[in-house]
Amino acid sequence: MINLAFHSPEEEIYYPSITDHPIRLFLKRDDLIHPFISGNKWRKLKYHLIKAEENNKKHMVTFGGAYSNHILASAAAGARFNFKTTAFIRGEEVENPTLKFCRLFGMELIFVSREDYKDKMILYNQHFKNNLQTYFIDEGGFGLEAELGCREIVQELNQEYDHIFCAAGTGATSAGIINQIHLQGLKTQFHMIPVLKGGSFLREDIQKLLIENITFHLHEDYHFGGYAKTQPKLIDFIKDFTSKTAVLIDPVYTGKALFAIMDLASKNTFEKEAKILMIHTGGIFGTLGMLDKF
Ligand SMILES: *Cc1c(COP(=O)(O)O)cnc(C)c1O
Repeated sequence: MINLAFHSPEEEIYYPSITDHPIRLFLKRDDLIHPFISGNKWRKLKYHLIKAEENNKKHMVTFGGAYSNHILASAAAGARFNFKTTAFIRGEEVENPTLKFCRLFGMELIFVSREDYKDKMILYNQHFKNNLQTYFIDEGGFGLEAELGCREIVQELNQEYDHIFCAAGTGATSAGIINQIHLQGLKTQFHMIPVLKGGSFLREDIQKLLIENITFHLHEDYHFGGYAKTQPKLIDFIKDFTSKTAVLIDPVYTGKALFAIMDLASKNTFEKEAKILMIHTGGIFGTLGMLDKF
């Protein structure tokens, strides 16, 4: 049985600077699901794992960068649910805490050049073409299975929010949330915060995962220089938020999304007392690659 008995509460956050702006802030604590199969990465893997099991596949093969939360979650999920795991890692061989933990969970790592990394199907076929045991999972878990798993975030909610915010890399998590808001007929407005530069391409990227042409907001200006890039004002915000709430947020994803909420609130974008939910998608391990920034 592929399931985690997990706990992802919805909490109201009392962060002092919110009192300057009349909003109510809530977090959906997917970061508490599991220390390593954390946040949206569990949501995105769940239906892949179920499909792999149904098809008698015993070996998950996936792709990512050397600090990928998806790679780490896949390694831990493999250990938890008895799959062998292999990951193709982009770039020259390196060592870091994320990869060390991946190996500890039994994952095999294959480092490939940035050039070879571009075509994942070719890589997969070179190594596993005639292997009946292997199951392909795209980079970041992107795909319909991921979208389906992320719908459950909205299904679990105990109240209706005016706005839901989520950090976006591939956009699959956002797609699941957008679809489920629509399916449940909620009045909630969805806001996507791309963490990479020029993120408006995500609007097209996720069209194939959306069940209809549903409207949502995309805020392009909170990438802080690009993927895994930071600026002092982001780091200062993370320090302040963490020291006043005991909730860890990371500089790659959740810090940027929460910064966006506070910034938009300071510009009076929201109606008074608006109930705003941010999906805490996890990613705390990402901070380990950036401790020198703190
Ligand atoms: C991977 C990740 C995301 C992005 O999810 P997508 O479905 O790729 O948009 C957001 N937050 C955290 C913490 C992540 O690890």
